Amino acid sequence: MPELPEVETVRRGLAPVLEGRRIASALARRPDLRWPLPERFAERLAGRRIAGLGRRAKYLLIDLDGEAPGPASAPDEVLVVHLGMSGSFRIEAGQGPAEAPGAFHIPRSRAAAHDHVVLRLEHGVDIVYNDPRRFGAMLLVPRSGLEAHPLFRDIGPEPLGNAFDAAGLAHALKGRRTPIKAALLDQKIVAGLGNIYVCEALHRAGIAPERLALTLASPTGRATRETRLLVETIRTVLEEAIAAGGSTLRDHAQVDGTLGYFQHTFRAYDREGQPCLAPGCHGSIARLVQAGRSTFYCASCQR
Ligand SMILES: [Zn+2]
Repeated sequence: MPELPEVETVRRGLAPVLEGRRIASALARRPDLRWPLPERFAERLAGRRIAGLGRRAKYLLIDLDGEAPGPASAPDEVLVVHLGMSGSFRIEAGQGPAEAPGAFHIPRSRAAAHDHVVLRLEHGVDIVYNDPRRFGAMLLVPRSGLEAHPLFRDIGPEPLGNAFDAAGLAHALKGRRTPIKAALLDQKIVAGLGNIYVCEALHRAGIAPERLALTLASPTGRATRETRLLVETIRTVLEEAIAAGGSTLRDHAQVDGTLGYFQHTFRAYDREGQPCLAPGCHGSIARLVQAGRSTFYCASCQR
């Protein structure tokens, strides 16, 4: 499943193409993805101007202006998109190879049979949503109701935003007797973190994945040196991954569509049995299953 850096890379790739443009027409080739598409989906998108492209956790937020041609103008709405397991966007601009922003662990499909939704923009560019496994989702949510929407109302702070800080994290971890790995995967504590970047952040911070969450804050729920280190490390691994995704996009996407991945930058994830890359550590990466998911860590330098 794409994690936050991949979704952010997709957002950055699509934004210059979509922002400020009007959707001339839309096409939905099937009635559903993971969930049914909104009623009259294509009709409701046609004519709308895209005001901006945002992201919340692993959701892309495509802001649609209310003004639309036709008798009834619609409220300002957000087209909320989740890429599921295998969703991707292609930008098709007439001549030349299509661009597919983002860099994914598993290569994206380009089979036309899986092209489910097409947005044709006013300047003749098609934005094609492809999703072989159809775990993705598209919803139309009124702008004013976005934060209170069931998908978003319980989601914690964005890890790259100002609201995610050591004081808040310490407060959230206070008294929690779950492993820190599980706590960081809890979307109520911090938004958008998945297995890969939790493994990477804990490794980079030298914190053992099985440590009880409460040990990373003071008994009264105040930030400690380790809480601050963890916050900084989470930001760093995400920022590095986004930067790597950006360069992958520029280097490879237009050549043959085979996107590389940030994998070469992983220090722990998917490296079982290989030497630990922490400076000065002579340990090796081990794998442990926590709550049904693999955790990659180094028993020598993660305490
Ligand atoms: Zn190590």
